[in-house]
Amino acid sequence: MNKIFPPNLLPLHKRNNIAFQYGRGPYLFGADGRRYLDFVSGIAVNSLGHCHPQLVGAIKSQVEKYLLVGNMYRVPEQESLAERLCTSSFANAIFFCNSGAEAIEGAIKMARRTHFCEGNVHKNRIITMEHAFHGRTIGALAATGNPKYMEGFAPNLDGFDQVELSLGAIEAAIGKTTAAILLEPILAEGGLHVVSNELFSGIRDLCDSHDLLLMVDEVQTGIGRSGKLFAYEWTGVKPDIMTLAKGLGGGVPIGAVAVTDRVAQHMQPGTHGSTFSGNSLAIAAGNAVFDVMFAPGFLAAVERVSAHMFARGQSMVSEFPDLFEEVRGRGLLFGFKCRVPNAELVAAALEEGLLCHVAGDNVLRFLPPLIINESHVDEAFVILGKVASQYNVKQ
Ligand code: PLP
Repeated sequence: MNKIFPPNLLPLHKRNNIAFQYGRGPYLFGADGRRYLDFVSGIAVNSLGHCHPQLVGAIKSQVEKYLLVGNMYRVPEQESLAERLCTSSFANAIFFCNSGAEAIEGAIKMARRTHFCEGNVHKNRIITMEHAFHGRTIGALAATGNPKYMEGFAPNLDGFDQVELSLGAIEAAIGKTTAAILLEPILAEGGLHVVSNELFSGIRDLCDSHDLLLMVDEVQTGIGRSGKLFAYEWTGVKPDIMTLAKGLGGGVPIGAVAVTDRVAQHMQPGTHGSTFSGNSLAIAAGNAVFDVMFAPGFLAAVERVSAHMFARGQSMVSEFPDLFEEVRGRGLLFGFKCRVPNAELVAAALEEGLLCHVAGDNVLRFLPPLIINESHVDEAFVILGKVASQYNVKQ
């Protein structure tokens, strides 16, 4: 399929020359009359698939009430989503925002302010990981630290010390001015590397012994994507600050920063905010996503389908060892480390009716909606098998 830059849009994305008319569940229907299996979900956003009736219903009924009243008044739906996030996590308080990068910006401010208010004004630097991705705003870019994304935007924001993801490197980077350690439980854009439980608890111990805050970026891994509501739950370790976005609104833009009381008490009126923060439309979507995910058996089904996906993936690696090196990820954040260019496989899959995506380190990534069942996985693997056979023949 040819790729184009549509006129009058900044040429930031080379787009596949296809437009979709509507979606239902895990399927998108193209203007070309074809049905596509959507294993991208807007990059982990459409957690309930397309047009989930509960999500559609909640949005429709909110639209008929009001969209936004502003944070100078009580917003009961906001209070209830915050309570649900807190009771299901380590957190005591939530700040709602509108995107992942914005959540990261808020989290950076909150980490620094905590130390400032505790009298440790010098503790303001944050240790981040190589191959991380935290977003495209100036602060999130500095945390991401990838020179490819930073070119042309100097001066870069100071305050971040990037290290390789190992306990030794992290420990060596800790100094008197270190305030926090920021990491993704699964380095998603960086190639689906799952941080081991040992490493996670080692990092928690370092935070405790050096009085640092542990910040987890769950923008991509959170809200059921890993098979648990939050990926940190796999590790047995609790963070102090967590960022969320993507799947939280099921397609409606929303982000969140979740924090402990230690952090929350220092975010007094005037220290942070955003006009659209916690607007009722986004919150209605977030509450609908939670209604569906809290239904008995929802996350167990994600884990069951994930096990099927990893088993099918492993067979694929055995069948096509020249194309695929290994499977990576957790839950329904799944990928193949490829031996051939990942983008070629993604393009070929699209031709065959399967939407999938690339990730760093030459990984082919599946991010299906969390409502899929085993038959959708089988359908995707039949298509990928066809793509792989044809690729082998072409070479
Ligand atoms: N953090 C992680 C882990 C992400 O994967 C992303 C986006 O891919 C972001 C932050 C930035 O989120 P957004 O694109 O909503 O700003």
